[in-house]
Amino acid sequence: MTLPICFDDIVDASARLRGVAHRTPVLTSRTANGRTSAQLFFKCENLQRMGAFKFRGAYNALAKFTPEQCTRGVIAFSSGNHAQAVALSARLLGMPAVIVMPQDAPPAKIAATREYGAEVVLYDRYKEDREAIGQRLAAERGGTLIPPFDHADVMSGQGTAALELIEQVRELDGGGLDLLLVCVGGGGLISGCATAAKALLPQCRVVGVEPEAGNDVQQSLAKGEIVHIEVPRTIADGAQTQHAGQLTFAVMRALVDQVVTVSDAQLVSAMRFFAERMKLVVEPTGALGAAAAFEGRVDVKGQRVGVIISGGNVALERYAQLLAG
Ligand SMILES: *Cc1c(COP(=O)(O)O)cnc(C)c1O
Repeated sequence: MTLPICFDDIVDASARLRGVAHRTPVLTSRTANGRTSAQLFFKCENLQRMGAFKFRGAYNALAKFTPEQCTRGVIAFSSGNHAQAVALSARLLGMPAVIVMPQDAPPAKIAATREYGAEVVLYDRYKEDREAIGQRLAAERGGTLIPPFDHADVMSGQGTAALELIEQVRELDGGGLDLLLVCVGGGGLISGCATAAKALLPQCRVVGVEPEAGNDVQQSLAKGEIVHIEVPRTIADGAQTQHAGQLTFAVMRALVDQVVTVSDAQLVSAMRFFAERMKLVVEPTGALGAAAAFEGRVDVKGQRVGVIISGGNVALERYAQLLAG
């Protein structure tokens, strides 16, 4: 079976992103290594432009638009990091962007999206159907809809995070990785990362991490088909997806070795570690991979482990509340 993306797509994406996306640092911590009896390499996508890896996928997708598509612009639905990623990418590429957000999205996120120059269309998520709104907007303006994960160019862009991580670890000490831990929402990030990792390091295990309350991908892989769940109650708002995508599921089925889960309390404990020991602000979803290693949800002993810290966008008041609680 041919998969929706291949290693060459990620190499192409990385060329498109060169000089545009940050080559985010890879950090290590003796304390983290001591605590887990492993060697952990943290890829800090919380320090990416707009604060999360989502910039990679959005920019890669928009950079491939035809001149006609550029003129008509892009449409996206998101209350989270994808909104800001598309808005910033559109501005950099000089095209109009319409972002459809729920009325009750955090005001700071709405403001940030507008600041990047996008037009924000608000809707009532209890009364209006976002699909219908999207179709109306697409019909009126002829814009191209870019989904947050189930799109080959988005998935390929996200994979550049792992491509870089593997290069950077090699630059650090010449070695590879035995294990790669990646947080999972709809599966765009892990699809791209697994494609890069399995091509460069065929022996490297790729393990996804979901919030305990929202383990739809774990269930889907066990069942062999996409499982739909209710909106999960978790502080990991970037992983509150109700089901994987068709494309991401095909890649995850082929390339992801295992999916494990962590609790919200374990996420907070990992966030606290990053703040205290590594001076890093990490949002709850961004701490999924690290929490799995710290809490022994996956066996890391004696291994070289890449961990993607996926983002750092959390309102300061909320962050303070979580760490204090
Ligand atoms: C979107 C997002 C995720 C999940 O990514 P998927 O591609 O949907 O699996 C994880 N962390 C952060 C910070 C995100 O914004």
